[in-house]
Amino acid sequence: MTVRVGVIGGGQLARMMIAPAVELGLELRVLAEDEGMSAQLAATAVGDYRDLETVRAFVRDVDVVTFDHEHVPQDVLRALVADGVQVHPGPDALQYAQDKLVMRARLSELGVPQPDWAPVRDREELQAFIDDHGGGAVVKTPRGGYDGKGVRIVRSGADAQDWFDALAEGDALLVEELVPFTRELAQQIARRPGGEMAAYPVVETVQRDGVCAEVLAPAPGATSRLTQIAEQIGRQIAEGIGVTGMLAVELFETDDERILVNELAMRPHNSGHWSQDGAVTGQFEQHLRAVADLPLGRTTPREEWTVMVNILSGPADGSLADRFEPAMAQHPEAKIHTYGKAPRPGRKVGHVNVTGDDLDDVVYTARAAAAHFS
Ligand code: ADP
Repeated sequence: MTVRVGVIGGGQLARMMIAPAVELGLELRVLAEDEGMSAQLAATAVGDYRDLETVRAFVRDVDVVTFDHEHVPQDVLRALVADGVQVHPGPDALQYAQDKLVMRARLSELGVPQPDWAPVRDREELQAFIDDHGGGAVVKTPRGGYDGKGVRIVRSGADAQDWFDALAEGDALLVEELVPFTRELAQQIARRPGGEMAAYPVVETVQRDGVCAEVLAPAPGATSRLTQIAEQIGRQIAEGIGVTGMLAVELFETDDERILVNELAMRPHNSGHWSQDGAVTGQFEQHLRAVADLPLGRTTPREEWTVMVNILSGPADGSLADRFEPAMAQHPEAKIHTYGKAPRPGRKVGHVNVTGDDLDDVVYTARAAAAHFS
C-alpha cells in the first residue's frame, strides 16, 4: 500500500521532499500556510497549522505526519497523537526544538557538553551571570527565534531590558556563556521509530549575519576523534529525546578542542543540503525513509568534498529564472536548487552544491555558480 506522508508547512524543506517522495513511491501531501508557497506542487491544503480542526482535516487522509518547521503548537500535536495519528517527530521530542530553555535542561540531564547556561527573569539575574562569566554573555528568547533573531550578545543586564519588559509573567530568558568558538559545526543523524540510526559526517557551517552562508562537508581538518565525538553526541541526543526523522545538532568547536551543543533542529536542515548531491542518501530522502519507517540509506559521501553555498536575497532586479542559463553554461558541475521564492533581502531563495576532490576548487566553483543568482 502506498504510504501517504503529510508535511505540515509549505517552505523549501517540504519542497525538497517532493522529488525523493516521488522516487520512493510515497504520496506526499502538504499543508501550506499560503497559496504560492515553495512546496505548492504538493500542497493539498492551505491553512493555519495552529488551528486544530484545520490540521485534523489535513491529516485525515495521511498515514504519517511530519514537518517543514517546528512551530506546530504542543496542544495541536498532542491532540493528533491522542487521535491515533502517527506524528514524526512526536511532541515529546519536538518540545526540545521549540523551547531553548527546555532543550538546555534536557541536555544537562543527558550530560551532553554545552555552554554554561541559566534561565534569567530580570536584569539583576542577568547581570549576576555576566559577572560570573567574564563580563559578557549571550541572551536568547527561548521560543520563536531563527536565523539569529532572538539572539543578542550582552555586556550588562540592561542590554536585554526590552526583552525582559516583553516577557509574560513567570517566563524567563535563556542566558549562555559567550563561547569563544573557532568554528561552527553540525552533526546530522536520522532515526527510525524503532531506534535504527544513521549518522552523516560532521560538517562545518559558516554563518554570515546570523544566517548560514556556506557548508563544507565533511568539516575540513576534522580528526577522527572530532568526527567520533560529534557522532556520539548526535546519537546520544537522538536516543535520549526519542527523535524520529532527521535531527541536526548545531555545535561549537573551541580552540581547546571542546565540542559544545548550540541548538537542535528536528527536520531536514540547511546544514544537510550538501547531502542531496554529495551523499549516497540525501537528507530529504532519509527523512522520508525514517518517518515512513523504511530502512535508512547509506550516508557516505560520494566524493571527497561537497560545498553548499546558499543563494541569499536573490537578484534585486528580476527573477532567478533568467540566471540559470549563464550559471549552467559556465558551471556545468554545479547542482542548482531553487525554492520558488521571490527575491527579498536576506531571504534564502536557493543553494548550489558542488562536489570534487580539491576543496579549494570546489569552494571556488560553488561560490562562482551561486554568484550568478545574486
Ligand atoms: P537561531 O535559533 O536564531 O539559529 P542560535 O542559537 O543558533 O539562534 O544562535 C545564532 C548564532 O549566534 C549562532 O550560530 C552563533 O554564531 C551565535 N551564538 C549563539 N549562541 C552563542 C554562544 N553561547 N556563544 C557564542 N555565540 C553564540
